[in-house]
Amino acid sequence: MSVAISSTVNICFMHESFELLRKSFLTTQIPSVKERTDGLKRLRKNIIICQQELLDAFTQDFKKSSFEVDASEILICLREINNTLKNLKYWTQDKKVNTDILLFGTSNYIRVEPKGVVLIISPWNYPFLLALLPLISAYSAGNKIIVKPSEYSPAVSLVIQKIISLSFKTNEVICILGGADTGNELVSMPFNHIFFTGSKKVAAKILNSAAKNLTSVTLELGGKSPAIIDDDFSLKLAVERIAHAKILNAGQTCIAPDFVLIHHSKLTEFVRLWKEKLTEWFGSNMTDHPDYCGIIHQNHFSRMLQMVDKSISEGALLSEELEFNTKNLKIKPALLLNSKFSHESMKEEIFGPILPIITYENIETEIPFLQAMDRPLSLYIFSHRKLFIDNLLNRLRSGGVTLNNCLINFCEISLPFGGDHQSGTGFTHGYFGFMEFIHQRAVSKQGFLPSTLKLFYPPYTFLKSKLLRILIKYFS
Ligand code: NAD
Repeated sequence: MSVAISSTVNICFMHESFELLRKSFLTTQIPSVKERTDGLKRLRKNIIICQQELLDAFTQDFKKSSFEVDASEILICLREINNTLKNLKYWTQDKKVNTDILLFGTSNYIRVEPKGVVLIISPWNYPFLLALLPLISAYSAGNKIIVKPSEYSPAVSLVIQKIISLSFKTNEVICILGGADTGNELVSMPFNHIFFTGSKKVAAKILNSAAKNLTSVTLELGGKSPAIIDDDFSLKLAVERIAHAKILNAGQTCIAPDFVLIHHSKLTEFVRLWKEKLTEWFGSNMTDHPDYCGIIHQNHFSRMLQMVDKSISEGALLSEELEFNTKNLKIKPALLLNSKFSHESMKEEIFGPILPIITYENIETEIPFLQAMDRPLSLYIFSHRKLFIDNLLNRLRSGGVTLNNCLINFCEISLPFGGDHQSGTGFTHGYFGFMEFIHQRAVSKQGFLPSTLKLFYPPYTFLKSKLLRILIKYFS
């Protein structure tokens, strides 16, 4: 099911919405901290009012369990709102800066201002969280906002639209439903900022459109996040933590471990512990288990199976027969042993419950292969040896890093979350997300004392030249 909206009405509606918000931004005062905190409190209240509706929508869209929705979507949004409410007064304050000696007699500060009218485009994999987190940041920064959630999670998108219309005035935030065409039309408009979460392919198109208006962009993308296990690390812990990060949302998580690098002597034990852990958590029939989520749609499901087939034809081996259910689109997480960097499974972000395993004799020989790949969103290193960790941190780039676990660099609200080069640009979360929607406007004020710039007025006399030389000498 996709959100059906007549394209002509939709195009008019998009332009009218943009104009309404632009007018509202230009003709009203920047909202006070009180107005913004009131809006955030209404949003918090309406999320709770619509919680059951949201849970039902998630079941409809991709059979996601209520526990996972509560934990990985609703809880994180509420925590983001509360953190913002606690800090907003401080974040929005003007910041005084020290005055340069050359500008004696002036005072200088930074005004923390909203960018203006901003666009948020979000994906389907955490459809609520990834629309709401940037919305909370953009709203608390004082912007006027259009949100376009994904067409592939239509039931959740409808609830997002409802929560937004219950929480905000139409001259503050508007939610527009639609697919790629809608997104494409929206990004052609002269927004003051675009915040996009999604694939690299679409990000490239968005950069192109944004360039025409010189619009600034935040890109939250994905990538192939490696999990590298040193032979000194407890395999039991590593397997448990990697398996959890991979079963969450059935691997359809931008920071899911995409592949594992492990010393060849540990492979058999890794496979045994992996099977044991999945059975402990889900019993013997995982593809019917209500706590395990399905793949979002048939195309993505087929892509996953084709990728496994192609990798097997290239020499990879499944650790056990692939279990899947074509009715509810669930695939049991599977290990692709004997994987090589050249295999199909290593070409693109997997974004599903398949985990290629590459074995190494010496990690040094694998580093050039990792360096040749696009920079991932996360890097996971399981080791207690400082030298091993520092060597990898110094030589491999990534958006963020978690040591001895997975996902934590995303979960910690005080850390900036974002990619590096191909995995994205800019940040989300807490203060860093807020700053993404802020223009730091430099304000200088000349006081009553005569301006020191007078020294630089013409005519350029001998005395002024002499003084300038003294200054240059002083600074050199
Ligand atoms: P996608 O790029 O296909 O779609 C994302 C959004 O872009 C959707 O709302 C879609 O309608 C819209 N869109 C599509 N074409 C467009 C166009 N031409 N112009 C403007 N908008 C357009 O991504 P997806 O399949 O929904 O999500 C999966 C991707 O998102 C994965 O690569 C994943 O790693 C990434 N992701 C990143 C993060 C992060 O925080 N970094 C989080 C979740 C997902």
